[in-house]
Amino acid sequence: QSSSLKDRIAVVTGASSGIGEATARRLAREGAAVAVFARRKDRLESLVKSIRDGGGRAQAFAVDAKDRSGLAEAARVIAGEFGVVDLVVNNAGVMLPAPFEDHRLGDFEQMIDVNVTGAVRIVDAFVDPLIAAAAKGGRADLVNISSVGAHGVYANFAVYCATKAAMTHLSRNLRAELGPKQVRVAVVEPGLVDTELQSHATDAAAQEWLAQTRKAFAWLAADDIAETIAYVAGLPRHINLERITVVPTQQV
Ligand code: NDP
Repeated sequence: QSSSLKDRIAVVTGASSGIGEATARRLAREGAAVAVFARRKDRLESLVKSIRDGGGRAQAFAVDAKDRSGLAEAARVIAGEFGVVDLVVNNAGVMLPAPFEDHRLGDFEQMIDVNVTGAVRIVDAFVDPLIAAAAKGGRADLVNISSVGAHGVYANFAVYCATKAAMTHLSRNLRAELGPKQVRVAVVEPGLVDTELQSHATDAAAQEWLAQTRKAFAWLAADDIAETIAYVAGLPRHINLERITVVPTQQV
């Protein structure tokens, strides 16, 4: 697959840790130029340094997923410095489970704002270059990161799962819009992946469930999802892997 990712121009959101960081490293190793997005500037800068030290091309954009004008400005800078973005990994997300009776409305709003509205802002910021890249005859990919939670039912995860269901349905509908323009839209739905995501959950019942599953079976690594994303984006132009569920073998 390496030749098909060479010289691609990629945006990876949520790249300061976990799946996004692993994906940025993977794409850069395969020859793509990567623009990495997240809030933690120090983490992005050390990622960029390590990619550049390995001979790759990368640039950091410390932008909050809520910052519409910051995202638009980053898109302008990328167009000037790298060229036409042809691969967008729409990955930034937060998981803050809690029962509704705890009234954690701020956490719920945060999940909707980052996981849903933030993802929509990224599509808005990069849809034009994706269409332009496809019109020039090359591959163009939007890879949205959802979750098995889009389909599952888990106590205390109602809002998180609703945001992921939105991501999955957004992707399917976007494909109807962008597929005819030769822009592929894929949604990747991971099961449990060992990242920082779970560490932000303060709800005791959710933490206990996570700790139990961690003991029960081996979770996926962020690299496993990076590998899936690289595969999806590296396929021949006429193949769109539309929805990919990747789970630990023992997660049922
Ligand atoms: P991490 O917590 O390691 O990564 C989340 C990323 O999102 C970080 O880079 C974080 O950067 C970024 N982010 C969070 N809030 C914002 C914000 N307001 N603005 C910009 N960036 C933000 O978790 P994962 O790697 O696991 O998560 C990546 C995606 O994978 C998420 O969408 C998650 O829902 C999904 N997923 C994860 C699973 C798992 O088991 N780990 C399973 C299924 C799906 P920063 O804090 O620096 O802004």
